[in-house]
Amino acid sequence: MTNKPTKQTSSKSKEAVEQVIKARAVSRGVAVGTVVCLIGKKRQFYRIALKENQVSSELKRFRSAVKTARRQLKRLSLAKSGSGSETQSSIFDAHLMILEDAGLLQKIENEIENEKVNAEWAVKFVTDGYLAIYEGIKDEYLRERRIDLQDITERLLAALSGSERTRFRLKKDSVIVAAEVKPSTLVELSEGNVKAIITEAGGWTSHTFILARELGIPAVTGVKGALRRVKNGDLVVVDGNHGQIVVSPGKAALADAAAAETRSGVRQPEYSEKIKGPLKTLDGRTISIRTNLDIGEGYARAKRFGAEGVGLFRSEFLFNQNQGMPNERMQYEAYRKIGELAKGEVIRIRTFDLNLEQLNEEIGPQEKNPALGLRAIRLSLSHEKMFRTQIRALLRASADAEIDILLPMISDISEVSRSRSVIEEEREKLEKRKIRCGNPKLGVMIEVPSAVMMVEEIAQTVDFMSVGTNDLVQYLLGVDRDNEFVADWFRTLHPAVLRSLRKIVDASERFSVPTIICGEMAGSPVYAAILVGLGARELSMNVNSMLRVRHVISNIAFEEARAVVASLSQCKTADEVEATVCEQLREKWSHLFSEEVLPPINVRK
Ligand code: PEP
Ligand code: MG
Repeated sequence: MTNKPTKQTSSKSKEAVEQVIKARAVSRGVAVGTVVCLIGKKRQFYRIALKENQVSSELKRFRSAVKTARRQLKRLSLAKSGSGSETQSSIFDAHLMILEDAGLLQKIENEIENEKVNAEWAVKFVTDGYLAIYEGIKDEYLRERRIDLQDITERLLAALSGSERTRFRLKKDSVIVAAEVKPSTLVELSEGNVKAIITEAGGWTSHTFILARELGIPAVTGVKGALRRVKNGDLVVVDGNHGQIVVSPGKAALADAAAAETRSGVRQPEYSEKIKGPLKTLDGRTISIRTNLDIGEGYARAKRFGAEGVGLFRSEFLFNQNQGMPNERMQYEAYRKIGELAKGEVIRIRTFDLNLEQLNEEIGPQEKNPALGLRAIRLSLSHEKMFRTQIRALLRASADAEIDILLPMISDISEVSRSRSVIEEEREKLEKRKIRCGNPKLGVMIEVPSAVMMVEEIAQTVDFMSVGTNDLVQYLLGVDRDNEFVADWFRTLHPAVLRSLRKIVDASERFSVPTIICGEMAGSPVYAAILVGLGARELSMNVNSMLRVRHVISNIAFEEARAVVASLSQCKTADEVEATVCEQLREKWSHLFSEEVLPPINVRK
């Protein structure tokens, strides 16, 4: 079980041995803090020590979650028996029996009471104990009860996450350690004191790390068995610049970290050149920079760093924050607020890019490959009520702000036409009701290979295009962007990616359709220089990348960047491209790129 202390990392013992562990850097900065282990896959939580006077309300919260779970199971069992599905009905009956088992519930209550811990932790602790026993049982039937118990655990945790919970704050200087951190969990925790993140899995373009970079939280990933190697309360140094962690650091490591902490590029901008007027390359090509915004408030800072509006607002983060689908009023307010913050600058709000699992509150149907499943525009078009609600909120908010609508994961023009019809119908209805609405431009994300192949046709039907390089790399190379095991195959500089980008930029020029690159590629100084060389004129990135990217762009010539890209045209593999990029950077721009950011390892910083 994850919450059992391990010997070698006991921070309290005087002999705690310093341990250096290699990791992959995914968000810049260095931080020192205390480990807080996060557990649970679907619902993530950590151990919270309750005060004596909080225990009884926690018990009440647990009992009410049990009631909710019981109600749900009774409903499901009746519904299935009514539909003649006896097998499914008996599964829910079996779940009910497990839930009715007083022994299980009593153990959980005892844990809350005796150990004075939050209900989530107690549920997981007790059920993990049972699961470990089932695991060792030879009998096939009993072993399968394991799955039932796992389902019940998830249901209880889901019921707890929906219940009114006391707002506990993370302690100051907490370093989150988890197998994986969900973006919604990070949004929730970031209101507290997350100093850094360590995970076993996740990719550079995982939403969690995109968010970490936006929030300026140093992060590393790829730490195998992280939850076994540290325990709650351990002191740890996280180096998000070089990709390493130091558990139980000694004096020297702490001194190094303290020095690096104050130099961290994230919180203290390293580049002080004045941000005046449009950003230009040395030979005068204008490049416009916008910001990606995931959780609203950061716009003022982006504006100071020269953002010309919001290139990508991932509206699904509203969904996470509200722990469910925000209604029309909530969405309208959120979009209007961003409109106010951006005061007259353009804001591109992307319609929900959610998958089926994220949408379903209860444990619903599971897709084998969610990234290839009912996701983004497909989900919106097949859940039209939800889509229409969002479109209405966007149309209303655009009455007073420069809001554009951006459709994710478009594969060809048919999805654009269907969406346009929805927008027009909703506009007509609003106008009939004398509700003011604006006239937002309509754009699409180019992020799946079919959209690249059809980009000329798409360009002729939309007002703008937005290139999602995170997904484009994933789908073009067939590499899951969140999967640690294939992280080495996620090659942004693969020749196939470069050719696709060239095709998109050419179509954008040919049909005079503004095109912005808004994947994480745009926020990396090395990649940004290559994008400029490919002909990109607009980039959108997280606020903490803006100064570094501006610095590079304003110190290179477009013609030089073009020459760098031209030198890549004969490369047949990602390795060849990266090696050539390195050579070229050393030759042309060694004053801009230190050795440590050169490919392949640290190019993403
Ligand atoms: C992308 O795919 O590059 C993108 C910008 O969108 P997201 O990361 O939200 O999928
Ligand atoms: Mg995408």
